[in-house]
This record gives sequence, structure tokens and C-alpha cells, in this order.
Amino acid sequence: MKASCPSAGSGDVLIRVEHLAKCFGETVVLKDVNAEIKRGEVISIIGPSGTGKSTFLRCLNLLERPSGGHIWVDGRDVLDPRNDPNALRRKMGMVFQNFNLFEHMTVLDNLTIGPVKLLRKTRGEAETRARGLLALVGLAARENAFPDELSGGQQQRVAIARCLSMDPEIILFDEPTSALDPTMVSEVLGVIRRLAADGMTMAIVTHEMRFARDVSRRVFYMDEGVIYEEGPPAGIFDAPKREKTRAFIFRIRNFQYHIADEKYDLYDLKAGIEAFCGRHFFPAAAVADLLLVVEETLQLCFREGDAAARAGLVSGAGGLDLTVGYSEQENETTLLFTAGEVLKTILNETAESDGLSRALIAGMTRSLREDIRGGKVVLTAVMREPGS
Ligand code: ADP
Ligand code: MG
Repeated sequence: MKASCPSAGSGDVLIRVEHLAKCFGETVVLKDVNAEIKRGEVISIIGPSGTGKSTFLRCLNLLERPSGGHIWVDGRDVLDPRNDPNALRRKMGMVFQNFNLFEHMTVLDNLTIGPVKLLRKTRGEAETRARGLLALVGLAARENAFPDELSGGQQQRVAIARCLSMDPEIILFDEPTSALDPTMVSEVLGVIRRLAADGMTMAIVTHEMRFARDVSRRVFYMDEGVIYEEGPPAGIFDAPKREKTRAFIFRIRNFQYHIADEKYDLYDLKAGIEAFCGRHFFPAAAVADLLLVVEETLQLCFREGDAAARAGLVSGAGGLDLTVGYSEQENETTLLFTAGEVLKTILNETAESDGLSRALIAGMTRSLREDIRGGKVVLTAVMREPGS
């Protein structure tokens, strides 16, 4: 059967995918993917891990051979053996999680090798363009550096510049920030935002939901081997229609820490909370408030030796579990302290003797509630937004 592309010639559709399927042996990863990407569009692709997001991107640029279906790029059927796969692949740049730079070459050489060898540019032309691109990604001063002399965020910006050096018509990003230290995420997202503003066509697999929301025109939620739900960001993030999309969008991310007894490592705990906050872009003031509430509450819990023992906060008595829960959708941070039965009493008993800790906690939280669950006392503190 001959495939015909309904949108060929319509001009603004850059990629069209119909009934795309991909299996690895017995494992069916993509069942029936149908999608269209128009020139100038930014598409975010979200979904739980293992749902075939990377496989989808890899099929688009022929790093994987699809098991079925059709892909047209610029109206050309990429699976037709008469079309040169290398020429089609060159229209699509790809940026990976782990940068994939040429480690033994300088930054400048990373950016010129492709244009010289594959686009037949002169060395001079390639260097001029490379310098322009390095300036665009904020790395004009680092052209002679080797990749291992750069931070992860800088390496990823070089990878983006290298991708641009091949003049792609679309860039496919596969979780471009997930291998980065949290402090470096925003410099890379900043570059991608800039490209979006310049009208670059992009498909971005990402876990950065706020970024996906403001940078993309459409969002694909992938699950069950298909694009399970798609729509503009406001629809997908505020009013997802289907069950799995809702579960994914409204999930709450947790950080958990077990405190065995009074000899817990406060610095380790704080570092864990800071890393969690970094991954979810908490403003510095919110992180400081959160750390203070945790520290003050633990102070209160552990201060009274006898009461602490009754709450199970001394060696061998079960300890205390701390959970920091963050709902991106509600923009709400909740702290749960779970311990033995008198955690509640501790907080009440100390009310008189330690008014300052209590006042600090009350000032930084929107609500503070105690419940009994499964024989344990759970103290729930919902953080107030700093400055509110
Ligand atoms: P995602 O990017 O959404 O996390 P992937 O596309 O990486 O998902 O993987 C989807 C599924 O396909 C996973 O179950 C994975 O184990 C499987 N898979 C991916 N690549 C291969 C491969 N080359 N060989 C076998 N299985 C693979
Ligand atoms: Mg992946």
C-alpha cells in the first residue's frame, strides 16, 4: 500500500506521524501514535517514565526504526528507502540528557566539525557561525575550553549550540535538564526559552512542568503506547480530561526522611530538603522558611526528655518520620511529622515554655493540624507563601 501524506504541500506542517508503532521483541512500546508538529510550534511531551517518550523522539529522527506507521518530514516519507535518511535526519537536531559532546575537542571544534564535514562549509564560515551561536547561549568566552572544564549546565548549552550549528528545522530535546544539578537547570531552560521566542520549532520531553506550561503551544501526555491526551497547556495542566492525565498532573512529589532518635544528622536532613526544593524551583525565601519550621518543630519535639521518650523519639523507640509534600498544581508545600502518641502533647506542653518557637512556626504556616492515624500522631503543617 502506498502511503500518501494528506498534509504534503500544505506548507506549515513540518512533521506528521500516523499510526506509528514500535516494539522491542515482545515489548510493545508505541502502539498507535498520531501527531502533527507545525513549523514554529513548541511541543512539550510529558508522561510517566517508561511510556515511550524517548522512543518516540528516536523514531522521529530514525535513531530507531519504527515497526509500523508513517512519518513525514517536510512532506517526505522518511521510511521510504528512496529518501536519503541522512538528509532527513539533518533537518532534526537532537539534544540528549547527557550532552554527548566530543570530549577530546574544544568547544569551538565541537561546533564546527559538523558544518565543515557534513554541510561543506569552509572552516572560516563555520567558525564565524559557531562564535555567533556561542554568544547566543552565553558562552562566547569559552570557545577554547574542553567539555570537562565546563559545568553540566554549560556543557548542555554547548550541546544546544552544536545542534543549532547544523541549521536544523526542528530540535528534539530528550529531558535536557534531568542530568543537571538543580542550580544549573534554569540556565539551560533560559536558552530553550530564548529559542522558542525566536520561533524555533521544538519538541521537548521534560519533567519541568512549569517550564512546559509557559514555553509550549501544545502538550502531549504519553501513556499506554499512545498520545493519551493532548492540548494547550492551560487545558492539560488545569483541566486534564482523562483519568491517567489527571493522576499524573495532580500528583504530589514527596521528600521523606526518617529520624531514628535524638542523635539525627540535622545537616544531612537540611541538605536533603534543599536538594528537593532545588529540583522543584522553590524560591530561596520559601526554602529558608521550610528549613526553619522543620528545625523549630524538631527542637520542640526533642526538647523535653521524658515527653520525647513517650513520643518514641529516643533510641530504639521508633523515631519520627518527616515528609515534605509538594503539589506543583496547588503550589502548596505540606510538612508531615509522624511519631508516637504524644507528639501532640509535646507541642502543647511546650507552648508555655517556648513561645518563640511556636510563634515562628505559626507565622510561617497557613495551618497546623494534629490527627491520629494508625496509632500515630500526625502533625500537618501547610506552609504559607513567604511574604504573604
Ligand atoms: P520514556 O522515555 O518515556 O521513559 P522509553 O522510550 O525510554 O520511555 O522506554 C519505553 C520502554 O521501552 C521501556 O520499557 C524500555 O525499557 C523499552 N526500551 C527502550 N529502548 C529499548 C531497547 N533499545 N531495547 C529494548 N527495550 C527498550
Ligand atoms: Mg526517556
